[in-house]
Amino acid sequence: MPISILMYHDVLAPEVFSASTQNIYTITTTTFQDHLAEIARSKLPVLNILELLDGINNQSLPASGVVLSFDDGCYGNYQHAYPLLRERGWPGVFFVSTGIVGTDRGISWAGLKEMSQNGMSIQSHGHSHRRLEGLSAEEVDRELINSKQLLEDNLGTTVDALSLPGGGIPFNLESYARKTGYRLVATSIPAVVDNATSVFDVPRLAVKNRQTLKEFSEMIHGNESWVKYENTKYRLKNTLKSFLPQWLIESRHRK
Ligand SMILES: [Zn+2]
Repeated sequence: MPISILMYHDVLAPEVFSASTQNIYTITTTTFQDHLAEIARSKLPVLNILELLDGINNQSLPASGVVLSFDDGCYGNYQHAYPLLRERGWPGVFFVSTGIVGTDRGISWAGLKEMSQNGMSIQSHGHSHRRLEGLSAEEVDRELINSKQLLEDNLGTTVDALSLPGGGIPFNLESYARKTGYRLVATSIPAVVDNATSVFDVPRLAVKNRQTLKEFSEMIHGNESWVKYENTKYRLKNTLKSFLPQWLIESRHRK
């Protein structure tokens, strides 16, 4: 059995959540608690991002497990997801777009520091949240370097991992990542992870608010047909997306 890396986004209290106005990736605390209970029931180990990285590099990943990742750095991650993870003593990896830190939507530097001192890993999701494949080489460098530097300076930690804003994959991604000092890149391509996975092309499974708990269970167990179906859907959607203008994709993702 493989490792499933779950890709969460914002987590909101049920009373402020509305399925019609949130984007498909935002879930409620109730759903999140159901997920954590399901993981506990499954007895799958919850790995941190460095265990995953070392496991791939040393070809020593456990036979099964989950990684809980969160994109963007939204305030709900600090307010809701982090305390619930801490209660269970489980690690989470939070990929933060540094441009959002300290804004109305984002976690403050103090909040990120508190999280990193309490078992959470804070990593990069670029600075401005622009999709990297639409940018010049200099702009990609800046997104990767600035966000890493800001996180390291403010948190006193080492940033090793990057998750791609909007899932956009720039040409020559691995050389950008190596050059700017990243050791792992997480994509939004739905697939599971094993010892054969490339550290610069680590797939994840997106958590969406319309998924059932049964689907969630298939996701954490890396159910082959479920993952295959999601992968096909993603690739089709991405082909269609390549015909849409960037601003439309960004506005759909960030809503
Ligand atoms: Zn994002």
